[in-house]
Amino acid sequence: MSLKLVLSGATGRMGTALRRLIEADSELELVGGIDRADAAERVGGVRVAPLASSADLIRQADAVIDFSAPAFLGSLLREHSESLAGKALLVGTTGLGDAERSLLQAQAERGPVLVAANFSVAVNLLLILAEQAARVLGPEYDVEIVEAHHRRKEDAPSGTALALGEAVARGRSVELGSVRRDGRSGRPGARPAGEIGFHAIRGGDLIGEHDVMFIGELDRLTLSHHAADRSLFAAGALRAARWLVGRPAGQYSMQDVLGLG
Ligand code: NAD
Repeated sequence: MSLKLVLSGATGRMGTALRRLIEADSELELVGGIDRADAAERVGGVRVAPLASSADLIRQADAVIDFSAPAFLGSLLREHSESLAGKALLVGTTGLGDAERSLLQAQAERGPVLVAANFSVAVNLLLILAEQAARVLGPEYDVEIVEAHHRRKEDAPSGTALALGEAVARGRSVELGSVRRDGRSGRPGARPAGEIGFHAIRGGDLIGEHDVMFIGELDRLTLSHHAADRSLFAAGALRAARWLVGRPAGQYSMQDVLGLG
């Protein structure tokens, strides 16, 4: 029996990458898509409904995969809490705020929820490596996280950069919020010990590049990941969807899917 999927943000770049992979896989069925009213249409024979009329699509799905925008995800969760009950929900949208996070927490009581700032297997391994490196190298090494994305990306630093910062902070047993530094300009003064710096480059159609630099007095270690195609994230999200459907209600992570926890 095929896995029935609905894509939220169906006409976007990630929605399109997902649709291509789903259509090429006989074990997956794309029931339909959801998008903003001005983007809703039929795409390659697939119905894309606006939020207001997507309840019937959601009810037919085993899983809903969202790569849209925080406000859109918030509306989806608020307006469709009933039809989403019991469904697996996968969220790749980044830049989420407290409002979306608490709606996701409420959804996790009604069904299995997996939120991942990055669905690439290699990046999820990188999170573990960054945590380990931070633990072993200690605060004598200054950490700077540099990310690069396409010019249309709306949030900065990227969700992946922040997840890497969280991993480094965990490795050092500190709260990221107390040591985070976004960019530097003017006269910020000498770099305080323990700071974790973030730098965002935007341009062209860069898919997603992340470098975590551990800079010591005598050497430098850089952990680096460069994505070459969006289908990388789409394939990871579909692997996660297969894993998530049928699980009990609750919050899950890519680390759970990959057995890296
Ligand atoms: P995109 O702009 O190409 O597509 C966004 C989709 O959401 C479109 O279909 C658009 O119509 C819809 N949408 C609804 N409300 C919107 C709003 N207020 N603003 C913008 N779009 C809105 O973007 P994309 O490159 O497909 O990325 C979508 C999201 O997924 C972003 O948050 C991005 O950071 C994230 N992303 C996550 C991963 C991951 O692995 N987790 C990978 C790539 C992208």
